[in-house]
Amino acid sequence: MRVNKSDFPILQQKINDHRLVYLDSAATSQKPMSVIESIEQYYKKDNSNVHRGVHTLGSRATEAYEAAREKVAQFIQASSSKEVIFTRGTTTALNLVASSYGRSKLSAGDEIWITAAEHHSNLIPWQQVAKATGAKLCYLELQADGSLDLEQVKGQLGPRAKILAIHHVSNVLGVIQPIADLAKLIHQQGGIIVVDGAQSIPHLSIDVQQLDVDFFAFSGHKMLGPTGIGVLYGKEALLEQMEPIEFGGEMIDFVGLHEASWKELPWKFEGGTPIIAGAVGLGAAIDYLQQVGMDQVEQHDRQLTAYAYQRLSQIDGVKLYGPQESRIGVVTFNLGSIHPHDVATVLDTEGIAIRAGHHCCQPLMKWLEETATARASFHIYNDEQDIEALASGLEKTKEFFG
Ligand code: PLP
Repeated sequence: MRVNKSDFPILQQKINDHRLVYLDSAATSQKPMSVIESIEQYYKKDNSNVHRGVHTLGSRATEAYEAAREKVAQFIQASSSKEVIFTRGTTTALNLVASSYGRSKLSAGDEIWITAAEHHSNLIPWQQVAKATGAKLCYLELQADGSLDLEQVKGQLGPRAKILAIHHVSNVLGVIQPIADLAKLIHQQGGIIVVDGAQSIPHLSIDVQQLDVDFFAFSGHKMLGPTGIGVLYGKEALLEQMEPIEFGGEMIDFVGLHEASWKELPWKFEGGTPIIAGAVGLGAAIDYLQQVGMDQVEQHDRQLTAYAYQRLSQIDGVKLYGPQESRIGVVTFNLGSIHPHDVATVLDTEGIAIRAGHHCCQPLMKWLEETATARASFHIYNDEQDIEALASGLEKTKEFFG
């Protein structure tokens, strides 16, 4: 299926009298009409609470919610839908692993390995676990472009390495990390790998079994789905060993005055009324991506990212960050000494939406020796015309600031 910009109603508007050029999909992607309609239809026809009502709407809502879980399981090649926990997003999913698995399995002197390029959502939960357990938070050495040298990683991971928590694709550098190789290395030490998949799931086919990851976290809103829904994939055997971190309705089996027991997987981790419409919308986003074909999505997004990198590198004064190869979805840059917020503000007057700031990666900014950068990011509704608009917007920005 060819992607049509007209599938995305938000893109049909003008911003500041210019065609909207949306280049901020790494922050959140736009939604096709089919996703918007699936949510509308759910509320118009099926809305009810799940796993409770014996009435028809209750059954329909439960079926819709659980069908979305099946779709996710199949989309990431999980071996069972029991391994798919619905969360609010990547952040909540990573906090769940850190607070439940991390706090119960780590003790003083154990090592948690991350990188300086992690999004704060894959950094602060581990800082907190390290403080609570006495485990050590350790940093893998990054190459100058943000990639990893596997030999070096092998040398760093020793027998005390219990958790490796790492991004699959960096939201700043765009670098794609070799997750399957990293999984092998940490498994050789008897540890587990937790993958922040927020920026990979929108662009790459994910097969959690082939990657052999223990946990994989992602957000629906970055993959054409709605905000407020995300997923924690976990290997069943590990999830079985873990305690819930949220308690209340929906997740219980039996409740007495002084004790309670939990439902089986996956529901024991889903306390309270779940994000039913969000799950339905995520299911519709998966349908849309599968109709396009994830191979097509990846090819398009890789090519467009390479085009953007190459096109921006031709502009005098542009400094690019991250690797030229093995990159997808984002191009991060600075324009001479113009502050990235000023760059983004001038581009907005041209209808071009990019992001500027630290991108929730303050340690990475320090590592890059920058206080902030500008970032253009892409999805399947972007094309070379959008990159050309960005390039001419940057030329105008330079003129503006003399
Ligand atoms: N990890 C990465 C790499 C991200 O880019 C983001 C969002 O920007 C997150 C985690 C957090 O995602 P969310 O805010 O949807 O929980």
